[in-house]
Amino acid sequence: MLKESGSNSLFTFENLESNVRSYARTFPVVFRKAVGAILEDENGFEFVDFLSGAGVLNYGHNDPDFINDAMQYFKKNGIIHGLDMATSAKREFMEYFDAIILRPRGLTFKFQFPGPTGANAVEAALKLARKVTGRHSIISFTNGFHGVSLGALAVTGNRYYRDAAGLPPVGAVFMPYDGYWGVDNDTTQYLERMLADASSGVDLPAAIILETVQGEGGINAASKRWLQSIQQLCRKNGILLIVDDIQAGCGRTGSFFSFEFADLSPDIIVLSKSLSGSGLPLSLLLLKPELDVWRPGEHNGTFRGNNLALVTGTAALQKYWTNEKLSESVTKTGRILSERLRQVAQSSPDHGLSVRGRGMMLGLDCGTGKLAGRIVRKAFEDGLVVERCGAEDQVIKLLPPLTIDGQALQRGLDILDNSVHASAESDRGYDA
Ligand SMILES: *Cc1c(COP(=O)(O)O)cnc(C)c1O
Repeated sequence: MLKESGSNSLFTFENLESNVRSYARTFPVVFRKAVGAILEDENGFEFVDFLSGAGVLNYGHNDPDFINDAMQYFKKNGIIHGLDMATSAKREFMEYFDAIILRPRGLTFKFQFPGPTGANAVEAALKLARKVTGRHSIISFTNGFHGVSLGALAVTGNRYYRDAAGLPPVGAVFMPYDGYWGVDNDTTQYLERMLADASSGVDLPAAIILETVQGEGGINAASKRWLQSIQQLCRKNGILLIVDDIQAGCGRTGSFFSFEFADLSPDIIVLSKSLSGSGLPLSLLLLKPELDVWRPGEHNGTFRGNNLALVTGTAALQKYWTNEKLSESVTKTGRILSERLRQVAQSSPDHGLSVRGRGMMLGLDCGTGKLAGRIVRKAFEDGLVVERCGAEDQVIKLLPPLTIDGQALQRGLDILDNSVHASAESDRGYDA
């Protein structure tokens, strides 16, 4: 038909799709299929996927068991859309989630299915916290990312996104995250003082919202001690603790919830990204039963509880969360990954690269966005899809599927290693 729309041609995207597209620019090919940790473009060129849909594909692309359950569900004319009507698929998901995830951890929560995106769930969490406490303000942290709809944007730190709001993103106060002033400075002391001082100018908030490992903000991992202090401050001041586990949850750091290592007991937990297992959109709020002050339909939405996504979400729980195998493998693979990244960093000493993160949520801090950009572009040319994060896009974010096999993992790491060295070399060339 159109001559321009041949294999891998971006003509149609450049011509018809809005400027707002972003990943299509970073990875300028046309992808046509994917299995596990391998993406394939229209020329049949393969890429190792260390992006995993920004944390959506923890179990890799097109898991055959999830696909099979979805196909069966289609074939038996299962309910695809039912607003928030009671369906067999939703009942099964809630029962499994309660039995496999919540009860073994001694947790009791009610389920709220908002619209299907992460931002939808964050909006609902903030609204509920305000309704429960009668307070208006929310405390969020430097480099926090919680979505780009207006309410979620108000608790998101990044100026690039905030400047695009068109309205002032109001209702939040930002406090320094763990490590913001160096490892020796406990930033909860500052927060404690601001809350205790009736003249600090900081209103008592309805909630504190945080990520235990900041994803978009640069792979900053909070310590157990810091998280515990935040929880204590919440309890002391009647503030609700919201853990945004959209990116760090669903096994990414090893345990199902990212806060388990810190023994936190959040009042509200927000999940999305990998919750459906298959990449289908689904989000969920878990709220302590006493917080369930909603009146029927008070917070609604057309696409609440995507039934097909619930079917694949149940399949993911059954396949990966009825035993410890996945958790153990994440810890093991995470160690291999971080060890190799440390070697890469050390073998390029002029550039002061450093590694951080938890489990299989790791970052290679390159110091500048320029160097990180060069490495990521070179890696893509060689067959690795990986993105950047952090205030200056200076951190390479590694989120391979948790289920990646040893061979694909090595292939991806070899490409990255090679790209770091090639880019560091050319960096030296530029500076000379
Ligand atoms: C991706 C993300 C969101 C927003 O989810 P969307 O589906 O993009 O709206 C919120 N919080 C965190 C931690 C995220 O990683």
